[in-house]
Amino acid sequence: MSVRTRVAPSPTGDPHVGTAYIALFNRAFAKQQGGEFLLRIEDTDQLRSTPESEAAIMQALTWLGLDWDEGPGKEGSKGPYRQSERSALYQQHAKQLVDQGHAFHCFCSEQRLNDLRERQREAGESIGYDGHCMHLSPQEVASKLAAGEANVVRMKVPTEGEAVFNDMLRGEIRIPWAQVDMQVLLKSDGLPSYHLANVVDDHLMEISHVIRGEEWISSTPKHVLLYQYFDWQPPVFCHLPLLRNADKSKLSKRKNPTSILYYQKLGVLPEVLLNYLGLMGGTMPEDQELFSFEQMAEQFRLDNMTLGGPVFDLQKLQWLNGRYLREQHNPEQLLARLHDWAFNSPHALQILPLLQQRIETLSDVAPLMLPFVTGLPSLQSEQFVHKKLDEQQVKEALQFMLWRLESQRHWHKDAILNVVTQTAQRYELKMRDMMPLLFAAIMGTSASVSVLEAMVVIGPDLCRARLRHALELLGGWSKKQAKQIEKDYQLWSASLETA
Ligand code: GLU
Repeated sequence: MSVRTRVAPSPTGDPHVGTAYIALFNRAFAKQQGGEFLLRIEDTDQLRSTPESEAAIMQALTWLGLDWDEGPGKEGSKGPYRQSERSALYQQHAKQLVDQGHAFHCFCSEQRLNDLRERQREAGESIGYDGHCMHLSPQEVASKLAAGEANVVRMKVPTEGEAVFNDMLRGEIRIPWAQVDMQVLLKSDGLPSYHLANVVDDHLMEISHVIRGEEWISSTPKHVLLYQYFDWQPPVFCHLPLLRNADKSKLSKRKNPTSILYYQKLGVLPEVLLNYLGLMGGTMPEDQELFSFEQMAEQFRLDNMTLGGPVFDLQKLQWLNGRYLREQHNPEQLLARLHDWAFNSPHALQILPLLQQRIETLSDVAPLMLPFVTGLPSLQSEQFVHKKLDEQQVKEALQFMLWRLESQRHWHKDAILNVVTQTAQRYELKMRDMMPLLFAAIMGTSASVSVLEAMVVIGPDLCRARLRHALELLGGWSKKQAKQIEKDYQLWSASLETA
């Protein structure tokens, strides 16, 4: 059997380091085994998927050197590789399952499902569909369908016994069927759920090894059952331990920058990010610390991966990056890296129009340019003293701007301006009273170009990291405060949505 692996990101946000981590192990394993590595875009969630996110994921993987043998832009014989272009296939497979009695049409209303969940919650039962529509007669189903009643297709799931499957790292896993819901396979709009699309595609794309994050373990019983219903050979499953924050919670953008683009902007070298991610799980012989992708592909042992959640430690990543820069680059090579990173004409030409009107000599350019080539600026708390807001309100305003910026789907000047205006209104301030706080956090200096224009060029990831950095400088939040502020924020942002 030839080895075929894949990474299957959903394009619903910034390209996540977790995606790079999964892609790296999949690509290295495929290479080691002389197989192929695929990229599949799982964009069945039409509301949350965006072409910008898809483009950013592909760009980030390419920057890291994690290119794919088949996928968007590299069509092979098993395409298309975007799920939104494969709807007919899923419908056909859902129909097959219904015809064979493994799945059924469910006509239950949202209201009935909500009531059911409520009842189950009150009774302390596990939450899940109760099989109501499974018992409709074929005539009833036919007449409802003929009348055009809205419906979904659900898979049948045994009520007793256990799902049993093997995981490359954990051996046999058993999960009682009672914990597995009768999953929706096809939604009422005819689009597939993740589960159906994922299994159909893994089969049709001849994926031999499904190497993915451990958060999918609880979904695997449904997948294994689907393979059985279709009478297909399931792939080997290998669930990798999730990357963690320092406090061992799942790596999240609330606690760490998680976007690959952030690390790119910070000036982390792509091969260092790969090396660092490759260290997670300790799969290299003799705990080797510095290695290239090629060395990893040759020597790592996927089945040796340790299961303790590896901590994504920014300091360690920066330390490793420093070693590469110092030990593996002469000045010419360093110059070439700087050129690739930010010291190049296209980047300079984005910045120069913003500052050209403010200079008298060429040497005036350097300080004005600084915020564009800095990671996290060195800040002083005095920069955040405000004439109209107290310390607590300053922090709160920065936090609210950060969260509002996090929720922007598109990053442009008007969207950023809108966030500042809304925040100013909350404190009954004029825009020009709110601006200095943002300016201090983002630019770090007392004089530079317009912060809004600069933020567009600096990009969302680094801007958010700088706001987070300012918040940390101001002391961050205690657990109790964090809860309260989150509540206040929810209320405020809900009021903005409805305004
Ligand atoms: N689309 C899923 C994700 O975003 C893929 C999970 C899998 O690999 O099966 O992670």
